[in-house]
Amino acid sequence: MTTLTFLGAARTVTGSKYLLEHEGHRVLVDCGLFQGLKELRQRNWEPFPVPPDTVDAVLLTHAHLDHVGYLPRLCAQGFRGRVFCTAGTAELCSLVLPDSGHIQEEDARFANKHRFARHEEALPLYGEADARRSLSQLHPVSYRTPTEVAPGISVVFAPAGHLLGSAHIHARLKGGPTILFGGDLGRYARPVLVDPADAVAADVVLVESTYGDRDHTPDDGGEAFAGVIRDTARRGGKVIVPAFAIGRVGEVLYWIRRLEGEGRIPVLPVYVDSPMAGEALRFYSSRVAELDPDMKPAQKDVSAFATARFQVIASPRQSKDLTARRERAIVISASGMATGGRVLHHMVAALPDARNSILFVGYQAAGTRGRQLVDGARDVKIHGRQIEVAARVAKIDSMSAHADRNEMIRWLGTLPSAPKRVCLVHGEPGPMDALRVRIRDRFGWEAHMPEHRERIDVSSSAS
Ligand SMILES: [Zn+2]
Repeated sequence: MTTLTFLGAARTVTGSKYLLEHEGHRVLVDCGLFQGLKELRQRNWEPFPVPPDTVDAVLLTHAHLDHVGYLPRLCAQGFRGRVFCTAGTAELCSLVLPDSGHIQEEDARFANKHRFARHEEALPLYGEADARRSLSQLHPVSYRTPTEVAPGISVVFAPAGHLLGSAHIHARLKGGPTILFGGDLGRYARPVLVDPADAVAADVVLVESTYGDRDHTPDDGGEAFAGVIRDTARRGGKVIVPAFAIGRVGEVLYWIRRLEGEGRIPVLPVYVDSPMAGEALRFYSSRVAELDPDMKPAQKDVSAFATARFQVIASPRQSKDLTARRERAIVISASGMATGGRVLHHMVAALPDARNSILFVGYQAAGTRGRQLVDGARDVKIHGRQIEVAARVAKIDSMSAHADRNEMIRWLGTLPSAPKRVCLVHGEPGPMDALRVRIRDRFGWEAHMPEHRERIDVSSSAS
């Protein structure tokens, strides 16, 4: 018997975890953290539904926290198996997991100090030490190389174009169905990252639906982005770009560099206020062969991303100085949904001043400050204080790392034959249902939208 249990990213966009059980073996595909709304975050504290030491292996599609951020917790609770992922994902995990542990420890400390936690002492889900220990279980594998991850379960990773090292995973089960885990799907014909690889035929396909109800506004020439920078510079303000350190920073820098080169924006100081982003850029540069052809061949170091007046801010002291400085500048800082990190200090300083702009370049999940701001909030709570929003808030979705509706349909169209079952995951209910309708109209396939913790028997899907 072969079953799939949806332990996360079911009708929501975080907490990706799919438990595959086949002939007495258990493989967990993705091990993500729930983020955003409190009712979702509380799921991180629920006991894992099977004893973690009974899981044979974990597979990671990519290093975003909503796909890997639960791993230290799973390991701390007894998971001892190998964690299969690409080398790029392993490198980025070595940055994001310890950082996540550190942030959770800091948040708990801060909450206890300021008594946000009304009832009892706030605890971190895991600490930095737990996260570092979990890294020793990572087992990097090459793209397009079949790997047996548990008896009778062989998988192949293929590029998904969503992040350095990102993959969709094709699983071949002995005596069972083939299953394609789509992971997060990237975009076509964008700089920095490659296009998603074509899908391989599978009996069961899981596909994300983050933007299942919309098509990204085209901004191929970067004009919307240039406009925000020019207007803010004219007002004498700062552009604050919240960006997840390992993801969009590269593309944001690519565009600034290009727009500067074309003389379409003034040459401003560009600060990457995130030591982790600086490290991530080095990993991107060292894996330039895995990136979009427009990143090759001459640009082989961090300078591939460096703008004319570029600086990575390392120490908290430098960060504080930069926060206080009133100058025309572009500041890129984490986290991308303004849920934590240094960007919050920049936002506290920048939001009340109408000269500044906050520019969001990625998806903003429900319940995050980023979502409140793009939805037009007049004030937001940061570090326990209400902060007035006078700065301009802009959003450019062409820089999204996620495929839009047409791109998802394009990718599904690369399947050489119709799957027996399609499961929609990683989306909020509205976009997910819109994609379901589009898939039915376009291909005639009835896609299923699993509920949280739903377990489906896929044995009968085997061809
Ligand atoms: Zn992702």
